[in-house]
Amino acid sequence: MIAIKVKKGYDFKNIAGQPALEAEKPGKPACVAALPEKIPFIKPRLRVEVGDSVKIGSVLFEDRRNPAVRFMSPGGGEIAQINFGPRRIIKEIVIRLAENEAQAEFDALSEKALEQIERDKLVAMLLDGGMWPLIKAFPFRDIADPAAVPPAIFVSLGAKEAFQPAPEVYLNGKKNLFGYGIKILQKLTQNVYAGAAADNPNVLKELRENITHVFKGAYPADDPGVLLYHIKQSSSENRSWYIAGQDVLLLAQFLMTGAYPVERTVAVGGTSAPKKKHFITRIGVPLAHLAPGVNGDVRFTAGGILRGYAASKDGYLGLYETSVTLLPESGEKELFGFARPGFEKPSYSRAFLSFFNTSALPANCNLHGDGRACINCGACAEVCPVDILPQFAFKCVLADEVEESLQHGLLDCVECGLCSYVCPSKVEVCTILKKAKAAYYKETGVK
Ligand code: SF4
Ligand code: SF4
Repeated sequence: MIAIKVKKGYDFKNIAGQPALEAEKPGKPACVAALPEKIPFIKPRLRVEVGDSVKIGSVLFEDRRNPAVRFMSPGGGEIAQINFGPRRIIKEIVIRLAENEAQAEFDALSEKALEQIERDKLVAMLLDGGMWPLIKAFPFRDIADPAAVPPAIFVSLGAKEAFQPAPEVYLNGKKNLFGYGIKILQKLTQNVYAGAAADNPNVLKELRENITHVFKGAYPADDPGVLLYHIKQSSSENRSWYIAGQDVLLLAQFLMTGAYPVERTVAVGGTSAPKKKHFITRIGVPLAHLAPGVNGDVRFTAGGILRGYAASKDGYLGLYETSVTLLPESGEKELFGFARPGFEKPSYSRAFLSFFNTSALPANCNLHGDGRACINCGACAEVCPVDILPQFAFKCVLADEVEESLQHGLLDCVECGLCSYVCPSKVEVCTILKKAKAAYYKETGVK
């Protein structure tokens, strides 16, 4: 194992409401959903309509850019609703679950057969079974191109962002499955790198045969893009692929059983969450199923407080999201807020006394003021794990100087959101950079 020290980042350990390591299996929900709108870059084409019967693993929609990339139903039953957003964007495909859900059948692959199978056939199996979208490509984080061979595939096994599922929970009892998943990835490329946190000795011990890198550092040291940034030898490696640790288990389960896997370990946390723990549930689960009876001014966030998105409490969890965070909205302005010492206010700023407070601090969604112009304080550069100067990169983007923003390292940005989090002027730096990356990708077609 190679040790990697990531010096920049931010530690969220002292935010209150972290999910306990305990895991609960909730009952079966009435409905599950697929959320095409939340899958970046794809152009979905529906393959079902309301009233159709579907099995677990039936095709719901495909990507027009490459119809071989398919997205499967996370439940068996009937298509209850297809909800559209502005400009007919497909937001949700809701499946009402049958009591006995039918399951689509695919070919299974034993470990021995996996050793012998040709790469092209393996790719075709993963495409047919709707597993391919779990593999993403740097630097734009689009779904990997099935026709390409990447220089490397990175697997992330961290939970450094607050309220994310702990690897020791979703890997529990699945060591062999994970090992099989790594073998699948090794058929796709020679170099498979799996990184785990140095402060998680249980995972390191359990998976020692499959872990290649051990990282030390705060969020987002666990991001596969950060690992890539720290170990790459040439720019050609910028085209590497990555996959989440939990999704490696899905690949393995799919090929071992020939059934589309829908189990998901989801971490539910935040001060307003009724149960702050892990739930062993399923892809597309309704958010209210994991946090029943929540009323009042509470924000549901799917996928993480820095990288996820605000979701309706009547919404569902998407294909990639594995955390649900509930925080009070608290939009009210504090009287003489500027003069308060902020002993319990989680913040990067040392201006608050919370800097000296080591106990768990309750977070909320209050931005504490409006956006202002950048004051060049350099806080964003202090935390950026890939040594971008975000304050210069975002100004280049706003000035339409794309080439300069690229020189500032725009494509190395791992979209961690830390620069926005620490910015005292509340500049949405990460959002600006992320949109610029996406626009560059769409305009140039560069992969
Ligand atoms: S510039 Fe990108 S990588 Fe750096 S802190 Fe901001 S979002 Fe993270
Ligand atoms: S943290 Fe905000 S105010 Fe400070 S330099 Fe970065 S963008 Fe500017």
